[in-house]
Amino acid sequence: MPIAPCSRYGVHRMVMQGMTAVKDDDTRENINTLGNWYKCDCGERVISEGTPHWDTALLEYVTEGGIIGMFSIGGVAGFWVESDLINYSNNKTIDGYKFYAA
Ligand SMILES: [Zn+2]
Repeated sequence: MPIAPCSRYGVHRMVMQGMTAVKDDDTRENINTLGNWYKCDCGERVISEGTPHWDTALLEYVTEGGIIGMFSIGGVAGFWVESDLINYSNNKTIDGYKFYAA
């Protein structure tokens, strides 16, 4: 899926928001690999397995286009995602995105 440039920064400035829980929108099953979420001021969100803000590879990840909705579990933000749109990368970033701890 093509990534639109960030309307605010040009390159999305993805700031770590914390740990999260992710479920498959179709099967309602947990997707345990995806556990860290990031948000840009423009609204773009990424959920990843790795912790690219700590300079590690993304591994499995999904961008805004694959996020269907949110839920709350024990006060923590959870996400419904389209599992067909989960990608995999051994890189520490994605074209058009940079990752930050804060
Ligand atoms: Zn952005």
